Amino acid sequence: MPTLAGNQVFSSISTDVSKILSHSRPFCKNFSGSCIRLTSVAARARISSELTSQTLQCKNALSVRDPLEAILFDIDGTLCDSVPIHYYAFREMLQEVGYNGGQPITEEIFIKRMNGLHNDELCHLLFPDWDFDRAMKFMDDKEAMFRRLAPEQLKPVNGLDKLCKWIGERGLKRAAVTNAPKESAELIISMLGLDDFFELIVLGSECERAKPFPDPYLKAVEHLKVAREHAFVVEDSASGVKAGVAAGMPVVAIASRNPEKLLKAAGATLVVTDFEDANLWGALKELDRNLGC
Ligand SMILES: [Mg+2]
Repeated sequence: MPTLAGNQVFSSISTDVSKILSHSRPFCKNFSGSCIRLTSVAARARISSELTSQTLQCKNALSVRDPLEAILFDIDGTLCDSVPIHYYAFREMLQEVGYNGGQPITEEIFIKRMNGLHNDELCHLLFPDWDFDRAMKFMDDKEAMFRRLAPEQLKPVNGLDKLCKWIGERGLKRAAVTNAPKESAELIISMLGLDDFFELIVLGSECERAKPFPDPYLKAVEHLKVAREHAFVVEDSASGVKAGVAAGMPVVAIASRNPEKLLKAAGATLVVTDFEDANLWGALKELDRNLGC
């Protein structure tokens, strides 16, 4: 196997991400098959204006307009602490193909540069000189390794059961919105016992553009028939937070693996340690109290 210049690739990853994003298509198909422009200046201005108005009208910490109707969850790192398993699988397999001169990638690099990105993007970032099919085969093999390891190591994020109960008692709509492949997403949801909890799973690969673009979250609220002002997103990566913010929704960020500073810089409304965090429950109780916002 060839030895790849991993450090060089990582040093230019930010630039590469910008290139990939700038070349992505600016349209997203809605459910009826027609196209809506999501990234025009006008659309961005409208979302910004609505958010400002929403913030002024709602005094709750999450800036959600009452009543809260839906919560949209990322899966990896948000419902469960799967980031170390993904990191391990990438580290081992990248080393096998001689990436970074055969030196293992660090967890810090993984968190900062790779976590939360769709596998298509990772192909371009990690293997710019590889044939795309070969790079995707690597990603598929890495996902298979993740699925082999997950059953023994996967654990829900603290307090997930308590939050799910709170959501169920209020009859809120809920969706899982992920960049993960279908097989891995369904395995995690099944292992967490949440098959019947989520009424909808949106995959990044089913959208014109995956996170950090807003398309998967916009698709979720459209399908749930919920106005985004009455919903919020829960995420764990900077990429995911950016997707929720770009979709015009407040984002609660779980800082289990990603630094709080990174998540706040991405636009998180509230950063918490897990679903037991008192600040989260303070915000949720406020939503319970704030009728008629
Ligand atoms: Mg995640």
